[in-house]
Amino acid sequence: MSSGRLLRLAEMTTVEAADAVTSSPVVILPAGAFEQHGPGMPLATDSLRAEAVAERVAAGLAGRAVIGPSLPVGVSPHHLAFAGTVTLSTTTFATVVREYVDSLHRHGWRKILVITGHGGNNAALTTVAQDLLTTRPGLEFAWTPLTALASDVVTGMRVSEVHGHSGEAETAQMLHLVPRLVHSERLVPGARTAADLDPLARLSRHSGHPTLTVGYDRLTPNGVLGDPRRATAAQGQAIVDTAVSRIVAFVQEWLDA
Ligand SMILES: [Zn+2]
Repeated sequence: MSSGRLLRLAEMTTVEAADAVTSSPVVILPAGAFEQHGPGMPLATDSLRAEAVAERVAAGLAGRAVIGPSLPVGVSPHHLAFAGTVTLSTTTFATVVREYVDSLHRHGWRKILVITGHGGNNAALTTVAQDLLTTRPGLEFAWTPLTALASDVVTGMRVSEVHGHSGEAETAQMLHLVPRLVHSERLVPGARTAADLDPLARLSRHSGHPTLTVGYDRLTPNGVLGDPRRATAAQGQAIVDTAVSRIVAFVQEWLDA
């Protein structure tokens, strides 16, 4: 995606960055995870999706936003039973976000948007947002998930009763965004129905009662929820395009608010 204009702070000089504080009042921080995504997709799946969406959002905003430093490792203790997963604790992740924000704030930015491809980061981002209300009262901090932002599109797909991590929606996005890293011949279904889950795992998946957290090895032996074999690149494009247009629309309103 080339817009002719620099979208990434990392590619700017310090002189250009100083100008960007005024011309590009929003800094987007792409957040992901370094965790198992079943036998068919890479550990960086969530980071790759967040980066790709951040690029499309920044391009859609035509210079009004820049992409700041990434958060390539997220909160993934629930995936540690699977090889390759690297995690930060919730407090470390929150500290890293807060310190990125503090640096950007020092240079004059007042609007920060985290785009997270990994739902495990959501709780920590909520705590950062709450803390910033008192520590940085002049700052506006927003964050958004990806797939959940287009949940109506996902509902319109043929998804399994149990779906989510490395399932139909996430695989579809990867087929659209980074197809070379999707090993289609190795995509295998994981837990697909409530009957596939043991009683404790089933309790952890329901809403309408207290929240119970279990590791992914308890939910699904191969780390997959749903059936990634059903995913298509066209579905992935629909999810990505929807999420991008909703984030762009939000930022445009935000800039006027
Ligand atoms: Zn993921």
